[in-house]
Amino acid sequence: MIKTKAIGPIPPGYQAIDGELALGGQKAGVLVAENGSPLFVYSRSRLDARMAQLRAAMPDALDLHYAMKANPFPPLLRYMVGLADGIDIASGGELRMALEAGAAAEHISFAGPGKRDEELEQAIQAGVTINIESPTECDRALRIGESLGKKPHLSIRVNPDFDLKGSGMKMGGGAKPFGMDIELVAPTAKRILDAGADWRGFHIFAGSQALSADAIIETQSQTIELAGRLATMIGQRPDHVNLGGGIGIPYFPGDEPVDIGKVGNAMSEQFKRLPNILASTQFAIELGRYLVGEAGVYLTRIIDRKMSQGQTFLVTDGGLHHQLAASGNFGTVVRRNYPAAIATRFDEEPTETVSIVGCLCTPLDRLSDNAVMPEANVGDVVAIFCAGAYGATASPANFLGQGPAKELLVD
Ligand SMILES: *Cc1c(COP(=O)(O)O)cnc(C)c1O
Repeated sequence: MIKTKAIGPIPPGYQAIDGELALGGQKAGVLVAENGSPLFVYSRSRLDARMAQLRAAMPDALDLHYAMKANPFPPLLRYMVGLADGIDIASGGELRMALEAGAAAEHISFAGPGKRDEELEQAIQAGVTINIESPTECDRALRIGESLGKKPHLSIRVNPDFDLKGSGMKMGGGAKPFGMDIELVAPTAKRILDAGADWRGFHIFAGSQALSADAIIETQSQTIELAGRLATMIGQRPDHVNLGGGIGIPYFPGDEPVDIGKVGNAMSEQFKRLPNILASTQFAIELGRYLVGEAGVYLTRIIDRKMSQGQTFLVTDGGLHHQLAASGNFGTVVRRNYPAAIATRFDEEPTETVSIVGCLCTPLDRLSDNAVMPEANVGDVVAIFCAGAYGATASPANFLGQGPAKELLVD
């Protein structure tokens, strides 16, 4: 007997036309026929809906930033520039893309632990905010600002002394390459102020992919407390505090979506009780996967159907070179199934247990492991959901000479 494994929850709202998964009002099979396979399809209406839902939940005073490393596909990025209050970047390449997508320099902030001199120069030249990650990086930024005759806008990225509980990726609490330890913050801020540069405030990011509202609320409250404490040490109010984010999406069986209303209500309450020194500070959160993850689907065509020792394999023309995370090889310890479906038989009852694999010659290339699906054949199209974030951009597209998948933004 084959042991059947569950798949993750398909994000709500996906519907069928003539029995096929519909994306932006078009059938998945038609999209693949017209654009080729494999194909990432991102939906504008889903981006709109997610942002609207988040704005409704969060206090009006909170800025919502898009962390573009989740998905830098230019048409999607351009769309997110229109929806979000700011764009968070993590390289000189992302700076160029954000500016090309129409983001205004005053709405861009640049984090990342290893910024080259050229990247600092481009950022200072463009006038974006740089989240300074170490005292030595601070010195380099000040020196470059001086040589350019431009005043750098510098925020301090803090390595918080707490982490986001239950988060998939911890970015704070303990020794970290991100940001600077708390005792270095006030001396670095003073150095920025003494040099006559623009000290913008703090960037405090404690973790990613958390699904517990209570854990997110606790981290936000600790973050505001820490920002207040640091501002008091510096003796000056920060204009801007980026509170991080970390709001996750359900990928795996048993995952539940974050109760975003609860997070928003708690944040509104926290905003009413701000320490005096933060009373006129502009707060922001920065989100990647929460904004774009569920808006994307990866479509890949079945090119072979075969049996091995009683197990059925559907072999696709896609794989981990586009979907490293779905294959279980991007920051997960135990491989579990992403939400998946036979897109061209979206309405049919699941009747057989199959493994869906990619075309790469490695046992790592598995998109879905022993899940129950409708009976599918060569030519059918598989959909992997939650593909809008860390899919195309965070997978080794050139592995085995395969090359990137096509990407499409639809209604
Ligand atoms: C990666 C990253 C994000 C986005 O994380 P998500 O889990 O996609 O929301 C936000 N801020 C920083 C500093 C990051 O490194």
